[in-house]
Amino acid sequence: MEIVFEMNQVKKIYKMGDVDVKALDGISFKIKKGEFVIIMGPSGSGKSTTLHIMGCLDKPTSGNVYIDGVDVSKLNDKSLAKIRGEKIGFVFQQFNLLPRLTALENVELPMMYKGVPLKKRRKRAKELLELVGLGDRINHKPTQLSGGQMQRVAIARALANEPSYILADEPTGNLDSKSGEDILEIFKRLNKDGMTVVIVTHDPELELLGNHVIFLRDGKIQEERYL
Ligand code: ADP
Ligand code: MG
Repeated sequence: MEIVFEMNQVKKIYKMGDVDVKALDGISFKIKKGEFVIIMGPSGSGKSTTLHIMGCLDKPTSGNVYIDGVDVSKLNDKSLAKIRGEKIGFVFQQFNLLPRLTALENVELPMMYKGVPLKKRRKRAKELLELVGLGDRINHKPTQLSGGQMQRVAIARALANEPSYILADEPTGNLDSKSGEDILEIFKRLNKDGMTVVIVTHDPELELLGNHVIFLRDGKIQEERYL
């Protein structure tokens, strides 16, 4: 199978004034198309940093990051944003919805930025909200939705511009266990339909969800396993 992500000796050092914080200490892995990947590890092990670099939200200090065979590690911010917009759907633990906009408008937003005409983007946003089981909540604002429902809106938004890959950082971290299970079902379904999904979690119970598990510890890969 085709390799869609490759990290090669990736290091990330955050500069905090005079202090260097080493977040990633030379990690290398490959992800193939259609995999369901779980990146697991304790708090502070470098999970979010890894996912942000994969999602073109940040750049490594050194090393190479290939997405579909293209090295994105040294691209400028504009080129990085372009790749992010074309290929990546990112889901955050805190949902990151805009509070003044309805569910429908939140899902429409990335399509609006891309210049998709109103009628078309509204139709697609409705379809996506139906896909995540929120067809009857399209005019609700985030404050009128439960956490699980907000995360579903965020997933619909991540899918808006037809990304090749879905990356989710602790997507169930703020949810009760039932809502969390429902969200994971959506990711499973997307993966079954062919989407490559990468989920970051500190919850060891989620290990069995994926078919490729990467364990991080202190910015290094401690173990990598295929199930
Ligand atoms: P995880 O998601 O596994 O909890 P992170 O990738 O967020 O880990 O963080 C890895 C390490 O890098 C931690 O020590 C954290 O404190 C540090 N770190 C993360 N983001 C920043 C930042 N923006 N500035 C400075 N240090 C950071
Ligand atoms: Mg994190």
